[in-house]
Amino acid sequence: MPLAELRGILAVVGNTPLIELERLAPDLPVRLFAKAERFNPGGSVKDRSALSMVLNRIRSGELVPGRSTVIESSSGNLAIGLAQICAYFGLRFICVVDARTTQQNLAILRAYGARVEVVTDPDPVTGELLPMRLRRVAELLASTPDSYWPDQYANPLNRQAHLTTMREIAEALDGKVDHLILAAGTGGTLGGCAEYIRQSGLTTTVHAVDAVGSVLFGRSPGCTRLVPGHGASIRPKLLRPSDADHVVHVTDLDCVVGCRRLVRREAILAGGSSGAVVSALDRIAPGLEPGSNVVLILPDGGDRYLDTIYDDTWVRRHFGEVAELSQDADLPHQ
Ligand code: PMP
Repeated sequence: MPLAELRGILAVVGNTPLIELERLAPDLPVRLFAKAERFNPGGSVKDRSALSMVLNRIRSGELVPGRSTVIESSSGNLAIGLAQICAYFGLRFICVVDARTTQQNLAILRAYGARVEVVTDPDPVTGELLPMRLRRVAELLASTPDSYWPDQYANPLNRQAHLTTMREIAEALDGKVDHLILAAGTGGTLGGCAEYIRQSGLTTTVHAVDAVGSVLFGRSPGCTRLVPGHGASIRPKLLRPSDADHVVHVTDLDCVVGCRRLVRREAILAGGSSGAVVSALDRIAPGLEPGSNVVLILPDGGDRYLDTIYDDTWVRRHFGEVAELSQDADLPHQ
């Protein structure tokens, strides 16, 4: 997809900054970088996927601006990315969410002009909300003429969108990307980056970060997860586990600890899965070769997590007193 041809707000999707992190882990003998995806106009890595999935259909004539409707089940970043892109193209957007969607995300979706449908009743057999959301999507697709379901969990364009993510990283570092650490949800970021690495003959080791309790890389579900973004309770069709050279599982508390460390040390206010990636770095660190370039992908910003990750009362309610969250005495400030 030639992004260069895009106009208006769409022209600033991608080309996010790569920030050198000199304070996060000053004792590590490597150069650390963060690909800050919050600088996409919709605020997250999912702008790339939303744009890719919608634009392809517009170019093929299957989606007609001013007439067609996009319908998707998502309560977070993809929803916001789609709402933005549909608003730009004059497409109607119906977003199916459930009761766990934050008030802030609902407000953002409505501000972009999306119609939000909230599914409240879980599946009577399994107690899960996701199947009920997908059922509602199917009903809406059947009753809405000219409608399209991007289906991020199975759509190869969600992977393809991230060829650009890795290309930008590789170009910024002249191809010397020794380690890439990223959070996996649908497998889009993982798949697209891994594909670019193969196509360009890079020797990057890909570390995928998953949630404890998620089924992405073969674990059985064992606990409820509080931090959205990475991990899944159903294995997406899109995910190819072999795209990852190495997998790290992190807990919700690891996400909080990682986020708080990132903002304290680097003044980067990032979302929960970024905290997951930062915590994963601790585990990967002993195996890093001195002199290597290590890139962390930070999928979104912290603004959408002020009531959770960055709220001390929420953290205490879920995890009790957490020693790591008190201020660092040894901040590596200049
Ligand atoms: N982190 C956040 C905050 C996300 O919104 C997502 C997308 N669900 C991911 C990580 C995972 O990205 P992907 O779907 O490309 O695997």
